[in-house]
Amino acid sequence: MYPNVEVVSCLPDKTVRRSTYADLHLRARALAASLQKAGIRPGDRVATLMWNHSAHLEAYFGIPAAGGVAHTLNLRLHPDELAFIANHARDRWLIVDDVLLPVYEKFADKVGVERVIVVPFSGSPLPRGYEDYEMFLAQGGGNPTYADADENSAAAMCYTSGTTGKPKGVAYSHRALVLHALSISLPDSFAMSRMDTVLPAMSMFHANAWGLPHAAVMNGCKLVFPGPNLQPEALLELLSTENVTLTGGVPTVWLGVIDCLEHDPGRWKLAEGLRIIVAGSAAPESLFRRFDKFNVRVIQPWGMTETTPIATTATLKPEMAGWSENRKYEVRTKQGLPSPLVEMRAVGDDSEIPWDGKTFGELQVRGPFIAARYYNLPEEQDKWTEDGWLRTGDVVTIDADGYMKITDRTKDLIKSGGEWISSVDLENALVGHPAIKEAAVVAIPHPKWQERPLACVVLQDGARVSNEELRIFLCDKFAKWQLPDDFVFLEELPHTSTGKLLKSQLRQRFNNFNWEQVGS
Ligand code: AMP
Repeated sequence: MYPNVEVVSCLPDKTVRRSTYADLHLRARALAASLQKAGIRPGDRVATLMWNHSAHLEAYFGIPAAGGVAHTLNLRLHPDELAFIANHARDRWLIVDDVLLPVYEKFADKVGVERVIVVPFSGSPLPRGYEDYEMFLAQGGGNPTYADADENSAAAMCYTSGTTGKPKGVAYSHRALVLHALSISLPDSFAMSRMDTVLPAMSMFHANAWGLPHAAVMNGCKLVFPGPNLQPEALLELLSTENVTLTGGVPTVWLGVIDCLEHDPGRWKLAEGLRIIVAGSAAPESLFRRFDKFNVRVIQPWGMTETTPIATTATLKPEMAGWSENRKYEVRTKQGLPSPLVEMRAVGDDSEIPWDGKTFGELQVRGPFIAARYYNLPEEQDKWTEDGWLRTGDVVTIDADGYMKITDRTKDLIKSGGEWISSVDLENALVGHPAIKEAAVVAIPHPKWQERPLACVVLQDGARVSNEELRIFLCDKFAKWQLPDDFVFLEELPHTSTGKLLKSQLRQRFNNFNWEQVGS
């Protein structure tokens, strides 16, 4: 239907390659046909170790079309973790970018992958034992027999990037992917249409790039892929030259972009009405306000690998149109209303919490694109209640309008003298200070209060600020007992492979923090 719609990829060497949906169609079919000729069986896993570009999109469609399961490997993980994941998933083949072969070679001898198909970018000759992707595509004749798969069979899979424990696999059925793509396209979610140009700046190896590639292809949107080029200037260049109208990614990426944009506002011309989907960790209010000045709308959803992943989105209701700006920001910075087809509740000590915007509980969700189990891990079944609700591990409030707000991960909550303190609220407020680039607030054992918040902050280049200034800055937003007792200034904060703060490492590092020196 959309043969001339473009698929644009910025390659590892920063050159831009342009192709079309007609190419995507032919090449995804060619991949499916070649996989079938090579003997793929229904349900066989074909792993990918790739950046965001058109060949990865071909794998998203070509592998399931052949009856296989596209298993996206997270190229930022440790080689031992990658080996564990590839073995646990029983990956049979691997498609890998040539520039990522060094990543594969670090765990190659620990996995039983039968064939390794390499997408050539650098032009260097392939080492022995690898097959060229273009030659592989040419081998199958280009006419696959579409798999007569049950809609509940797996089309894709991805492992959680958990901050603790072993990675856990989530299989996405054809049905879940289609319903999820429809759900995020709806007007009150991301409002996607064929008029959009979509740039997924979240990784295609992290929860299907939040479903954007599937939904974009379903709607016929022009697609722009950044490859590994996620630096603020590179992204701004692509956003403006390709006239992108919908993009998204984790807060860190967009905090970098807004710094760059504010620094040199005349340099880039962004599309009228650009929307940026920001999730993965809480998007700070300052990010919404700063982008609004450029007429760019930040939209915050919430989700997990286990929820395909988008399960809630914070967009306003019509009766809120007349609310004050501050009140509207308060709603937009929540994680939002459940997507259609998703049921949501939060559970306190024993029972469901009231929707009063104050009471805390663990968020639970259920629905046709929410996973019901992990792949081949029956011992992890207690992540689900007996009646099928997924226990998310996120602590939330839900207000009377139905908007959910994440206050913490269950393990990150701070309990001081019997009262809960939200580390996420403190972090969001801190990054609103012009001197602060990033902040993590963690619970540290305290002799009197059981736990107290300690703020670990990274300053903007060349910026200076004192503890007292930061305390005063936070004072009008928080009660005195909620303020961090101390601030430590660090060069950088530890992150997981998908850009989330690794607070467990900070807690360990400061576990024996000497509170006496701050006199609390
Ligand atoms: P992952 O499975 O790696 O996508 O991680 C899912 C977790 O990321 C969730 O359980 C949340 O803790 C966190 N997360 C995702 N989106 C948001 C958001 N908008 N605000 C706060 N936390 C988020």
